[in-house]
Amino acid sequence: MSDKCIFCRIAHGTAEASIVYEDSTVIAFLDIQQFHPGHALVVPKAHVPDIFDLDDETGAALMSTLRRVSRAVDSAFSPDGINIWQSSRAAAGQDVFHLHFHVLPRHTGDYWHYSPVRRSPSKAELTEQAAAIRGAMAST
Ligand code: 5GP
Ligand code: ZN
Repeated sequence: MSDKCIFCRIAHGTAEASIVYEDSTVIAFLDIQQFHPGHALVVPKAHVPDIFDLDDETGAALMSTLRRVSRAVDSAFSPDGINIWQSSRAAAGQDVFHLHFHVLPRHTGDYWHYSPVRRSPSKAELTEQAAAIRGAMAST
């Protein structure tokens, strides 16, 4: 746990996020800058900086949550497809140095993740999105 790390603070409940799932190992919450609604991040609760520091057990827990969150985002938002996107180290475009996987809804003919057209939804909208994903997780 690092007080300087925003994803550690979210994982430990000392910073706010629109949470869609959590257990003892993994937390999933909405990205505050979204290309499409439903864009979520799946994150280990422990401070793992990037893919090179990930152990097998935590990796398996992350993959299980990635699969479940992807299915719920698909059910709640009906994108045409989903990318699972992960950047390790600055040269690869990593901005937050606590491992995270993007669950990125895609639509036919859209632009790419790092497009300048990403939106910052209101807190109310993120709360609504999180409720929709949690509801879909309960029923998928
Ligand atoms: P990266 O570029 O490292 O793959 O992605 C980092 C992501 O974290 C970005 O998409 C950014 O919008 C998101 N992010 C940065 N700060 C926060 C925050 O405080 N809360 C949430 N929910 N997402 C954040
Ligand atoms: Zn951290």
